[in-house]
Amino acid sequence: MSSDNSDNKVIRFASGLHDVSRDRENTTSARDVVCQFCFGTGTRLEPGKGAIICDCRRSNRAGRSLDAARIPPRFRECDFHNYYPKNDSQYFAHNFASRLVEEYPAVDAGLLFMGSVGVGKTHLAIAILKDLIEKKGVTCLFYESGSLLKAIQDSYNPISQNSEMRVLAPVYQAEVLVLDELGATVPTNWVRDTMYQIINTRYNNKKLTIFTTNYLDEPRTAETNDESSEPKRRRTFAADRIQEMTTLEERIGTPLRSRLYEMCKKVMIDGEDYRKRLDQRRADSTTA
Ligand code: ADP
Repeated sequence: MSSDNSDNKVIRFASGLHDVSRDRENTTSARDVVCQFCFGTGTRLEPGKGAIICDCRRSNRAGRSLDAARIPPRFRECDFHNYYPKNDSQYFAHNFASRLVEEYPAVDAGLLFMGSVGVGKTHLAIAILKDLIEKKGVTCLFYESGSLLKAIQDSYNPISQNSEMRVLAPVYQAEVLVLDELGATVPTNWVRDTMYQIINTRYNNKKLTIFTTNYLDEPRTAETNDESSEPKRRRTFAADRIQEMTTLEERIGTPLRSRLYEMCKKVMIDGEDYRKRLDQRRADSTTA
């Protein structure tokens, strides 16, 4: 058995999480035949409770909510069970994330997942959304922040079918929003003002927001990159260098960084890029 699986088992039992996706698969296949509990009516009698919505309809509703939450297909399978922490920071991040789901709605601050590329920030943010939707029926929304800004920009186009408010209303209204890759867009005044307006509106309305960002509060130094298997001197990409020297505050502006201190708990995740690990495994399996 790989170490991945054994690591995961510890987490799985420790957090008491349950594989809902597997239940959903089972329920879906049962429903395809005709649900044996409600016989396709969508309701069933529960002793002592009367008529209740059948589980087959509940899971259907959760599926539709996942679509409405705009979770990208690439991340649809991400959940707490298939996140394999590789170091303490990743264990802590997993615990913070799963605790938020357990305690919701008695939660007064979101999370700001901070760390380099490929350490699983988006994975954990999506695991939170999926559990909130499937276990607690919360209306959630996922936006990569660059795509959100692009959608707003496109809405200004006179032949566009979308108005700015049509894009923004769900962002303002979602009970829980994930804004992925905060700071990734080149910070023009318009970008900063728009992001500030969006996040400040949610802040004023006490809406929970979860952020991920590749930028840190301090410029990266050789030490903060220690975990990278690649020697720093071999990093040649200009984008990498800019990111290492730039802080989150420089990317999003001081007022917004200040709001985030109050809105979120900062969760640092370090480690090497998980995609590199996958790539290495693929290479190993082809040479084996
Ligand atoms: P980040 O948002 O930090 O850049 P992602 O969450 O997008 O990283 O992760 C990149 C890919 O690696 C995704 O497919 C994700 O599911 C996977 N991944 C990252 N970390 C882990 C982990 N610890 N366990 C399992 N999969 C992981």
